[in-house]
Amino acid sequence: MKRKNAWEKYNENERKEIFRFCEDYRKFISECKTERECVEALTAKAEANGYRNLNDVITSGEKLQAGDKVYAVNMKKMLALFHIGTEAFENGMNILGGHIDSPRLDLKQNPLYESDSLALLETHYYGGVKKYQWVARPMALHGIVVKKDGTSINVSIGEKDDEPVVGVSDLLIHLAAKQMDKKGARVVEGEDRNILIGSIPLEGEETEPVKANILKILKEKYDMEEADFQSAELEAVPAGPARDYGLDSSMIIGYGQDDRICAFTSLFAMLEAENLKKTGVCLLVDKEEIGSVGATGMQSHFFENTVAEMLLKMGIDSFVQTRLTMSRSKMLSSDVSAGVDPLFVNVNDKKNAAYLGNGIVFNKYTGSRGKGGCNDANPEFIAWLRNVMDENDVAYQTAELGKVDQGGGGTIAYILAQYNMEVIDCGVALQNMHAPWEV
Ligand code: MN
Ligand code: MN
Repeated sequence: MKRKNAWEKYNENERKEIFRFCEDYRKFISECKTERECVEALTAKAEANGYRNLNDVITSGEKLQAGDKVYAVNMKKMLALFHIGTEAFENGMNILGGHIDSPRLDLKQNPLYESDSLALLETHYYGGVKKYQWVARPMALHGIVVKKDGTSINVSIGEKDDEPVVGVSDLLIHLAAKQMDKKGARVVEGEDRNILIGSIPLEGEETEPVKANILKILKEKYDMEEADFQSAELEAVPAGPARDYGLDSSMIIGYGQDDRICAFTSLFAMLEAENLKKTGVCLLVDKEEIGSVGATGMQSHFFENTVAEMLLKMGIDSFVQTRLTMSRSKMLSSDVSAGVDPLFVNVNDKKNAAYLGNGIVFNKYTGSRGKGGCNDANPEFIAWLRNVMDENDVAYQTAELGKVDQGGGGTIAYILAQYNMEVIDCGVALQNMHAPWEV
C-alpha cells in the first residue's frame, strides 16, 4: 500500500501555518541544547499557558479538579505536565512521551590539562555516536557548575556571534595515511576527543602557563576554580543555530532533533488541547540515549510517584489506584524514526520504511535481532489509533527501523508498557540521526 505525501493535502494557508510552527521549533532547538535548558524553556511555555507547579498546589493545600493544569519537574531534567480531564483520573491518562537528552561530549570531572603549550578539556561521549563526526567543527559548552556552597552558575559559551567556540581537532589528511586505514569506529578514538580551549600563556607563570591563563579566565568570567569542575555538568554540543534546509526550506538541519522534535510537538499538542475527557499528560525524560537509567530517566519512579501525588490531591490515597491508573492509560511514546535516504536505501525495506513528508511514523515495534528489547504494540490499540488519525485527517505512516538484522534501537516505550498500559512507538522521520547536525 502506498501513502500520499502529506504536503499535497495542505492549502496555502495551512502551509503558512506549518512554516510558522516550524520556525518556533527551529528557534527552540537552537536555544535549548541540554536537558536542563529544555526543561526551563518548556516549563516557561507551560506556565504562560496556565500550568501551575504541582508543588505550589501541594503547599497551598487545595484539591485538584477537572480542568486543572499542573506540572512537575524532577531534578531540573525531567518534566511531566497534566491537564486533568472531566472523566475520573483513575480511569487512565492519555500520555505523550519523549526524551530531551541528546548525544554529545560531556566534560570529565577532572578535565583541564596542558600539553605542548595548548590547554585542553578531556571528554567522555554520551549516547551512541559515530566518533569521527564530532571533530573539526565549532562546538559550544553548555551546562552548570555547582559550587560547594550550593550556588550554581549556568554556562553557555559559543552560541552568540561575539563569543568564541571550541572544538576537537582532526588529523590533517597529509599525515593521515595510517588513520585512513583504520575501521570507521576507530578513525577517531573515544579517548582522543579532547577539546582545545586555549593557547596563550599567562605572563610570569612557569608551570602550565596556558592552563593557568584559562583558569584565570574562568575565575573572572564565572568565579570558578579548577576544583569546581568536579561538581559541574558541562556538555560540548555543536555550536550555532538550526537552519532551514533545502531550497524549498522544507526541512530543518539542527542539533538534538532526536528527540526534541517529539518533545516540542508533544508539548504544543498539550498546550493546545481543550475540553479533555481523559487526563492528558506530556512526559519529557532524560537519559534515554544511555538506557533510560538514573533518577531522571524513564526507569525512575518519578512519574509513578507524581501520579500518586496527583491522586492524593484528588482525595485518593492509594498506591493500588496509582498502579491501576497507570495500567488504564494509553501512550504515544514519541521518538524519531530513520527517514529513507536515497544515498543509503539498501538499509531499508522500502515498503516498511519512513519517508520525510509522509506524516507521523508509527512503529509497532523497534528493537533488534528479532524485535529484541522492543515494545510490540497491540493491534487493537493500533486499530483505535488509525481511527483517531483518520477521523481527524492526520497524515501518518507505519515503518520499522531498517531492514531485518540491519541494526536496531530502543526507546522508552517498553518501560511504560511494564505498567500494563497500551503503548506504541511513534515520531518524526529524520536523516543523519545522532550526527551533530540532524535533518
Ligand atoms: Mn531518540
Ligand atoms: Mn537517539
